[in-house]
Amino acid sequence: MAAANAHYYATRDPLGPAGDFVTAPEVSQMFGEIVGAALADVWARAGRPADAIYAELGPGRGTLAADALSVMRRAGFAGAVHFVETSDALRAVQAKRVPGAIFHGSLASLPQAPVLLAANEFFDALPVRQWIAGEARCVTHDGTRFRFTRDGAIREDSPAREAAAIALAHQLAAYGGAALIIDYGFAGGEQGDTLQAVRGHAFADPLDQPGEQDLTAHVDFHALAAAARSEGVKVSRAVTQGSWLEALGIGARAATLAALNPDQTEAIAIARRRLGDEDEMGRLFKVVGLTAVNWPRIAGLE
Ligand code: SAH
Repeated sequence: MAAANAHYYATRDPLGPAGDFVTAPEVSQMFGEIVGAALADVWARAGRPADAIYAELGPGRGTLAADALSVMRRAGFAGAVHFVETSDALRAVQAKRVPGAIFHGSLASLPQAPVLLAANEFFDALPVRQWIAGEARCVTHDGTRFRFTRDGAIREDSPAREAAAIALAHQLAAYGGAALIIDYGFAGGEQGDTLQAVRGHAFADPLDQPGEQDLTAHVDFHALAAAARSEGVKVSRAVTQGSWLEALGIGARAATLAALNPDQTEAIAIARRRLGDEDEMGRLFKVVGLTAVNWPRIAGLE
């Protein structure tokens, strides 16, 4: 899964209607603006530290960062922008969208400074392992196609995700800051086979054409929270994306945007429903806040 996704992201920009999938920041500017408002607010309540930076994990096209920073800059945040991104193809897109962004191959090289961080649909792209009755579920190639070695009741875990959560929590514990993790997955430790492939906006066989389709699995927020807590940061409960966006005022933002662009009123309403409705992205996607112990909690995630 790691090798397939590394090739996949290195060789294309998969986002958008012409690609394989659409993410929340690509649906509407309202998503990034609310993320930016939440980060600007927690930064202000932390005393507006001048050395704080904005950081993002897996920034895609840079759309979330651009929308979040437009709000944060207006709130007086003047810090540098740091992107953790492994794909050179996407780094090029991000550098155009957010000039001056500084790139990192992993969280470990972020500067020793308080961080205001966002990670949307980053953890779901990191590899999982699958277990059946305590034994690893493996993949073989039979000369024609890839196959799983066995079937049965499946548990998933992800050392790669836990390592990233620990590195993030370590950064917050050592230098301060707040992080928003937004992804789809399980809040309460539910289990099952969630490995999925998406290609051209449709589900595909996860073992077909490795590296040519998007491989993800549900994020186990319970495991992520435990990993982060082990580093001594505050971890919020997992709130559904729909309820968090509503609590932070997506309704008011949609009304303002519609008043400014009356011909866009219907499109704005559709985008709001897509981001927040329970049968769209609103319930499956969860928002979790991580904060240093001496920082305030993120709004809506108290
Ligand atoms: N956050 C963006 C993009 C999500 S797609 C959005 O919401 O639109 C996943 C992103 O994570 C891509 O930018 C991809 O290149 C990046 N990524 C995947 N695996 C990574 C890894 N191991 N390290 C750093 N970035 C990674």
